[in-house]
Amino acid sequence: MRLSKFSLHTTKETPADAEVVSHQLMLRAGYIRKLGAGLYTWLPIGLRTLQRIETIVREELDRAGALELLMPSVHPAELWQQSGRWQVMGDEMLRFKDRHDNDFAYGPTHEEVICHHVRQDFRSYRQLPVNFYQIQTKFRDERRPRFGVMRSREFIMKDAYSFHLDASDLAREYENMRSAYTRIFDRLGVDYRIVQADSGNIGGSRSEEFHILAGSGEDLLAVSDTGPYAANVEAAVCLPSSSARPAAGAAMELVSTPGQKTCEQVSKFMNVALDAKVKLLVVKGADGGLVGIALRGDHQLNEVKAIKHPLIADPLQLAAPEDVQQAFNCEVGYLGPVNCPIPLIADHAAAALADFVCGANQNDHHLKGVNWGRDCAEPQTADLRMVCEGDASPDGNGSIRFYRGIEGGHIFQLGRKYTEAMDVKVLDESGQSVTLEMGCYGIGITRLAAAVIEQSYDANGIIWPDAIAPFQVIICPIGMDKSDAVRAAAESLYTDLSAAGISVALDDRGNRPGAMFADADLIGIPHRIVIGDKGLAQQQYEYKHRRAEKAEMIPASTAAVVEKLGA
Ligand code: ATP
Ligand code: MG
Repeated sequence: MRLSKFSLHTTKETPADAEVVSHQLMLRAGYIRKLGAGLYTWLPIGLRTLQRIETIVREELDRAGALELLMPSVHPAELWQQSGRWQVMGDEMLRFKDRHDNDFAYGPTHEEVICHHVRQDFRSYRQLPVNFYQIQTKFRDERRPRFGVMRSREFIMKDAYSFHLDASDLAREYENMRSAYTRIFDRLGVDYRIVQADSGNIGGSRSEEFHILAGSGEDLLAVSDTGPYAANVEAAVCLPSSSARPAAGAAMELVSTPGQKTCEQVSKFMNVALDAKVKLLVVKGADGGLVGIALRGDHQLNEVKAIKHPLIADPLQLAAPEDVQQAFNCEVGYLGPVNCPIPLIADHAAAALADFVCGANQNDHHLKGVNWGRDCAEPQTADLRMVCEGDASPDGNGSIRFYRGIEGGHIFQLGRKYTEAMDVKVLDESGQSVTLEMGCYGIGITRLAAAVIEQSYDANGIIWPDAIAPFQVIICPIGMDKSDAVRAAAESLYTDLSAAGISVALDDRGNRPGAMFADADLIGIPHRIVIGDKGLAQQQYEYKHRRAEKAEMIPASTAAVVEKLGA
């Protein structure tokens, strides 16, 4: 590509409203332009990278045996009503009517549409298994679109959906997709982790996310420092301690704590560590009543775990202060498990405490020296808290460290959640009608472009891995207008490389060297060839890798350049 004809618009200024590096650089390097909140135009140079990511994804999905199709973006409401998600999706789903007053949604995802296809076209087990994928535009009316294309409202996703006669075949295809994803992320040249993810309220099904590690990532990951365990903090398991609870050593005692309501206040006032205190949260129960959740003072409730507990209402709702007052006859700051008037569940760590401090269920008072089983009933226990850095890894290998990650992909064994609701069945070998098992597998194509930059940039701009650079190499001729020799050499190298199928940019815009190099660095081209009269006199080109400190001289031949590109 000749840059004189490429409509490249770069700027030096960092756009004020771009918070993260990738967003700043994509704007500065002319990859994207904002149309509205969460809406972006991909300019020609940006689209080249996007298409290279798509190509890698397509090649690996094809290789894994998935079949590409293309479904509409606009979905009739009836499909979403059948699955029950017309209500569940809430404001994230963009809805509209056609001229006949029929309801439609702009697809945020395609489980419903693919289920409709399979239930129409599939009759027999002989047609299975099948895995369909598409690379297509989605719209989600995100509450907080931000970070440019990282969390936009319109974005491109590769979504795949597989259908199986039984759960073991689904598990096989899940592994197949997991390997395909591993190859994709390896080829992208990024540092990533596969982490266990929350499988929502769907049940025991397996789900993992592919995270690109980056300080700007919105997700927190709990990763073992020595073992293989890695999970999204939402899903990270906190096991009960293996050692037995210490025996009760102190007598229970009422302590006056006027105005000391928070754990921090009480801990300071009574001079006890936060982790020696039990706090009680009150939430709505699944039966409409109230339920108490006991946590250690230094721990936080994990809502994702809480809503899966059969006694706790989904979605999680904190009890109103009036309701708590009525049930406990005291204010929220003084609650505790002794004489607790509502059902109580204790997190494993809270249940492991002895001689602990807690609210006395009496205004301005706390208790110390409290023991489960003696001063209050032995509680029902569950894993309800957020994992903490330093916790033992649940697989017994090492301890947990936190990392930030950007979710680039998500694979999921859905089981029969959608196929049951949408009646997706075939006849099995014995002529019985069976509801199919389903898997789904997503990759955020547009998000990946930004995520790669978050890991690969310097003060001068983007540094693309070769695999997805918009151009492999850029030729920067110095004084092309004045020197016939430079022009001839640049043109002939450009022609040769193009003919060899190498994606090459020729900066023929007539810019001064400094401006040319600044642009080449900003847009992130991995390899740069400078052609000038001085070098040509020695029959040399100057070569520099985008990551290298210094340029080097190489023989002025196409073969020498090609060798560098391969290195
Ligand atoms: P997130 O938790 O980041 O909102 P999600 O769990 O809603 O993601 P999925 O429904 O699993 O995402 O979608 C599959 C992939 O699509 C994600 O792994 C992500 O890469 C991408 N994706 C999801 N939402 C967006 C968005 N708003 N902008 C860009 N890419 C997105
Ligand atoms: Mg989302």
